[in-house]
Amino acid sequence: MKGMQNTSNVYRLPSFRELSGKVILAGAGPGDPELLTMKAFRYLQQADVVITDRLVSDTILEEYTKKDALIIPVGKQSGKDASTPQPVINDLLLEYALQGKLVLRLKGGDVSIFSNILDELKTLSENHIPYEIIPGITAASGAAAYAGIPLTARGYSTAVRFLTCYRDTLLDAAYWLDLARTDDTLVFYMSSAPLDQLVEKLISNGIADDKWLAVVEQATTPLQHIYNYPIHEHLAGHQGKTYASPTLIIIGKVASLYGDFQWMANSRSKEDYFTPVETTPVKKEKIS
Ligand code: SAH
Repeated sequence: MKGMQNTSNVYRLPSFRELSGKVILAGAGPGDPELLTMKAFRYLQQADVVITDRLVSDTILEEYTKKDALIIPVGKQSGKDASTPQPVINDLLLEYALQGKLVLRLKGGDVSIFSNILDELKTLSENHIPYEIIPGITAASGAAAYAGIPLTARGYSTAVRFLTCYRDTLLDAAYWLDLARTDDTLVFYMSSAPLDQLVEKLISNGIADDKWLAVVEQATTPLQHIYNYPIHEHLAGHQGKTYASPTLIIIGKVASLYGDFQWMANSRSKEDYFTPVETTPVKKEKIS
């Protein structure tokens, strides 16, 4: 009951588990800092150490953390050598948790979608470190909302698939055929570099004329920019583009709804919202 003191454990010695710290694995949402959950926000204000991915807004790290929190960027970025190897991240989690610290492991979007959470969970579990998992808004939900594209709009699509084709070999021929023929909305993560090949595969496998493409750069940030057209028009003038990072691709009939329901103007700036990974991965003390 509120106001009542709990005296039951006053003389109990703390167990090993209580002496060790704790790791909170939390999703930070896709970009807009206000898309953070209240729960992740509360832990940000308490955490001693924040180990963060690259796709987390600077505002979250600079304004929502404790003054003396240690912020450690462990970003990965395709094509950049400075990406922090997963074993190094696992070791950092252990190192600080075993010092009794409250460690917040922040990941862009949601923790369970295209993230290496499994490796980190195994490390924590094998070492008996207590942890909690807090979901976040994944890039697909964020991009869909800020583009005005309902992913499973009635009459357009009854399902949505979250995919990646960063390595062509991940999808076999039968699966490409299925992707081209399905009415499910397809959302591709980490796939802007191979976009031309992706579209060619779908077209050569017979994707219908009424399927549209929305390429969403830096979704939910002030630098959001969307390219939107029927997928068959890709071959006429949209090939060979380089997109800002990060970029999400939405394919399906629903992508044609952007023209009707967009509510955010395209940014004209080509700047990066998220800080690119540094040349050498470093531990960075927070500058307050
Ligand atoms: N766990 C994350 C995904 C990590 S994989 C989530 O749930 O969203 C990284 C990929 O996510 C990027 O390559 C990009 O395809 C997508 N992504 C993340 N944030 C994004 C954003 N703000 N805008 C567009 N795509 C984004």
